[in-house]
Amino acid sequence: MNTNEMWLSALGELELQLSKANFTTWFKNTFIVSCENGDVYIGVPNAFTKAWLEKKYHREIFSSLQKLSNNKIKSVCFRVESKISPPKDVKYTEEGVYFDNNDNFQSAPQSYQVVQNEASVNQHYTFGNFVVGKQNELAHAAAQAVSSQPGDVYNPLFIYGGVGLGKTHLLQAIGNEIISKNPRAKILYATCERFTNDFIHAVRTGHAKEFKDQYRTIDLLMIDDIQFITGKEGTQEEFFHTFNHLHQMKKQIIITSDRPPKAIPGIESRLLSRFEWGMMADIGNPDFETRVAILENKCREKNYLVEREIVQYISSVIQSNVRELEGALNKIIVFHQFKNLKPTMESVKPILTSFQPIKSNKNITPKQLIQTVSLYFDVKIEDLIGKSREKHLAFPRQIIMFLMREEMKCSYPSIGQEIGGRDHTTAMHAYEKISGILNDDERLQNDIELIKQRLYTV
Ligand code: ADP
Ligand code: MG
Repeated sequence: MNTNEMWLSALGELELQLSKANFTTWFKNTFIVSCENGDVYIGVPNAFTKAWLEKKYHREIFSSLQKLSNNKIKSVCFRVESKISPPKDVKYTEEGVYFDNNDNFQSAPQSYQVVQNEASVNQHYTFGNFVVGKQNELAHAAAQAVSSQPGDVYNPLFIYGGVGLGKTHLLQAIGNEIISKNPRAKILYATCERFTNDFIHAVRTGHAKEFKDQYRTIDLLMIDDIQFITGKEGTQEEFFHTFNHLHQMKKQIIITSDRPPKAIPGIESRLLSRFEWGMMADIGNPDFETRVAILENKCREKNYLVEREIVQYISSVIQSNVRELEGALNKIIVFHQFKNLKPTMESVKPILTSFQPIKSNKNITPKQLIQTVSLYFDVKIEDLIGKSREKHLAFPRQIIMFLMREEMKCSYPSIGQEIGGRDHTTAMHAYEKISGILNDDERLQNDIELIKQRLYTV
């Protein structure tokens, strides 16, 4: 991991801790100027930002960098570097925050304008560096088909799968491929959140028409993580019309989600039916061989040599998703570069302990679990722990009780207590019911897997 990558990882962590507005306001155009003997200088665009970061975020930044460098960083200072611009690749993260060109780097969009082409597509994610395995070959093939004949073959293309499995990578790869063939194609990549925010902002500032014009005159629309459209009726309506318009014009639409369309709660049926018009492709967890191939690929990209045996070891320990796999590799690289050592089995093992079964490295409280399930199924917490036995509440409630038992090892009486003061037999029944059907119910397995991912990775 070079200093840019380290800063990007730190930004990734900080972004999770701060509100979006704060994050974008204070971390815009920051970068690591130098990092020598454990002293890091962070370049900031002006004195105001410098003072603010020193006062408010020094501790967070420092501890994040320390963690990423395995305690090699000793001090963090800020320096106004208005003349030097951040290295180009610092703009890139997968969540879209950085996709804007610098002028548009704002949490709330400055205007209704959407950013297109190079600015909205991350050039790093291509088909060339996407490793194909059994679990993603369908999605990969569909993505390639769409890039060679946009608007023709599968429209829309709907890609779904859990966190960190390569959905955004594939989207971006399609974008890059289409741009390389036709540099004048108008391409728009937006996270669902971005689409929502742009829309709300446009309406609020009286630019709804311009918003529509912008979103409806493009050749390729890619909306990432559409599941967040849950419960946003106005946005769904707008997206529905945008969709129809583009589809009629034979413009390609690609959508990703962490679950199949039907499992997105609170989605309008007319939108649902459109999502199912074209092609749906899922991505599953990569198997061992694919994980090894992905890691080898990443090592080559980073020009960093790791013995095969070690690559295999990492792949056997980290089974959850590719993002985590990459995170582990980066951690190993940073550690060994700082110490100027070659990775060996002995030196790698302790680094990976924090990645071992995601379950054990985070203590989850019943409250967090209930909140996660409530968000996942889009039902209110009070209803979940309330008296109603309606199916759309009873089922998530049983999942909570099951997970409290399975993951948190709570006693039945305490589970009943947490879930609205129910009797312990209710908790027992819920546990038995869910465990009884889990093996044969793929959809339920998927739900539980995604809930666990959200619980342990956020
Ligand atoms: P998602 O959008 O599904 O949450 P991403 O596309 O952001 O996941 O992928 C997470 C990370 O894993 C990215 O850095 C991406 O490049 C990498 N990745 C995922 N799948 C693959 C793959 N098949 N080959 C190479 N890299 C991959
Ligand atoms: Mg993604």
